[in-house]
Amino acid sequence: METPEKEEIVKLDFIRSIVAEDIKTNKWDGRVVTRFPPEPNGYLHIGHAKSICLNFGIAAEFNGRCHLRFDDTNPAKEEQEYVNSIIEDVRWLGWDWGEHLYYGSDYFDQMYEYAIQLIKKGKAYVCDLNAEETRQYRGSLTQPGKDSPYRNRPVEENLDLFERMKAGEFPDGSRTLRAKIDMAHVNMNMRDPVMYRILHASHHRSGDKWCIYPMYDWAHGFEDSIETVTHSICTLEFENHRPLYDWFLDQVEAYHPQQIEFARLNLTYTVMSKRKLLQLVQDKLVSGWDDPRMPTLSGLRRRGYSPASIREFCKVIGVNKFNSTIDFALLDHCLREDLNKTSARVMAVLNPLKVVIDNYPEGQVEELDAVNNPEDPNVGTRKVPFSKELYIEQEDFMEEPPKKFFRLAPGREVRLRYAYFITCNEVVKDEQGNVVELHCTYDPATRGGDAPDGRRVKSTLHWVSAEKSVKAEVRLYDHLFTKENPDDVEEGQSFTDNLNPNSLEILPECYVEPSLLEAKPLDRYQFERLGYFCADKASSREKLIFNRTVGLRDTWAKIQKKENKK
Ligand code: ATP
Ligand code: MG
Repeated sequence: METPEKEEIVKLDFIRSIVAEDIKTNKWDGRVVTRFPPEPNGYLHIGHAKSICLNFGIAAEFNGRCHLRFDDTNPAKEEQEYVNSIIEDVRWLGWDWGEHLYYGSDYFDQMYEYAIQLIKKGKAYVCDLNAEETRQYRGSLTQPGKDSPYRNRPVEENLDLFERMKAGEFPDGSRTLRAKIDMAHVNMNMRDPVMYRILHASHHRSGDKWCIYPMYDWAHGFEDSIETVTHSICTLEFENHRPLYDWFLDQVEAYHPQQIEFARLNLTYTVMSKRKLLQLVQDKLVSGWDDPRMPTLSGLRRRGYSPASIREFCKVIGVNKFNSTIDFALLDHCLREDLNKTSARVMAVLNPLKVVIDNYPEGQVEELDAVNNPEDPNVGTRKVPFSKELYIEQEDFMEEPPKKFFRLAPGREVRLRYAYFITCNEVVKDEQGNVVELHCTYDPATRGGDAPDGRRVKSTLHWVSAEKSVKAEVRLYDHLFTKENPDDVEEGQSFTDNLNPNSLEILPECYVEPSLLEAKPLDRYQFERLGYFCADKASSREKLIFNRTVGLRDTWAKIQKKENKK
């Protein structure tokens, strides 16, 4: 018979299974220490969210801890801005590292000591080949490399030169410290990899203390080791770096975490490489890292995505060992599920068409009760003002309606949500023949409900009062790229050639119900019948701005239905 405990493990993904097993066998004295180690050279994106939810999630589920560590071994400009944004984004996603905030650069002294140890053991040497020569000597996947002419320098000379590299005696790129492993190794990472390079650059934390900087492969394993990480979880491309990390740790007999690789997240219609995201920002192809079309966490936040929906998405996609591309529609599906439960319903008209209720008293305003969220009875109702002049959506009226159009048309009666039945009697047009105004009558007996005589209408429209509503700017977004895979380009083209020219549409003159004057930046709403929207970070009472987060139609649910029929 299966014990409940075993059943539980069966349901776990392959990484959680390893962690559960390790706890059972007391492999790490019961400890679970994971980490999320971003390089502060850009803003976090939805791919990082997968890694964040995995590492922080495992720590939370197994009573361990997760470090936030900045892998800041490469001195670059503006890093502090990235550090700040990363801290904000991980917090926003709902995770907490407690006191365990670390910086790889804080370990520079320790790493230097380890390097000296390697030199003394004859396992590292100072090499005078320049970058190009080093590349040539390295060989290829099919050709073994060649030994550097400096490979057999005596230990004393290596110690002296390395000391002088550190002291700043040599120009950038003139020398490196390299591990002495095997230039013919089948794994190219093992062909005497560079451990340190000379770079006279200020570091955002260590300032000008160093002019030699550790390479990623040299530094990364030690960062995990120094922090006594138990499960060092990383993406698949580091699988063939693992032997090198092991080799480094073995040489200095350091604490040895277990590395586990999983497949990175790829999403349709977007790019996730930080280099490409930076290019979009620098070339001003988007308004910034937090442009609502960006796959960055700050962009998604500004667009109106909730942290809960992103966490749920990460749960649904799970982790495995095979690279694949996830449909953006799945992310939006998780988003809708959450927003449907949590967002307040309001009325807004994006493309206004004026409606005059001829039999409604001039100057009268009624405050009608509107339900805030049918999914959540606890949030109650609010008042929406009704008056003689209203706006409805242009597309909710057709002068000559085709068969399946059930909304407003000449002579037809419809319901205005939370208000009355109205009937259209007259259409006013401008000189070009565009419909600019409708004259209607209302039935006072239908207030807030059905007609007492039982007559039915076929549709219910949203509306706002022309006098009492508030003007707002609304921004509609579409995918940033037209192709599912933006990197699918003709020769000589770049991914930016696949940018969607219609990814942003600005509607400067929309009208929203007055309750939205209270909208704070990033507040989320459902505009009835239109979709989910969120107040932009720059929105204020003086100028209301809303971003459309996502439409109401769930394309993922449709895709699933089709799949199930097959
Ligand atoms: P890029 O390759 O664009 O420079 P990166 O992987 O170097 O991105 P890091 O800041 O080093 O970015 O990433 C921090 C952590 O996030 C790493 O552990 C990495 O494995 C993980 N990560 C990055 N991108 C993804 C992704 N698309 N899916 C899952 N995890 C990711
Ligand atoms: Mg990286």
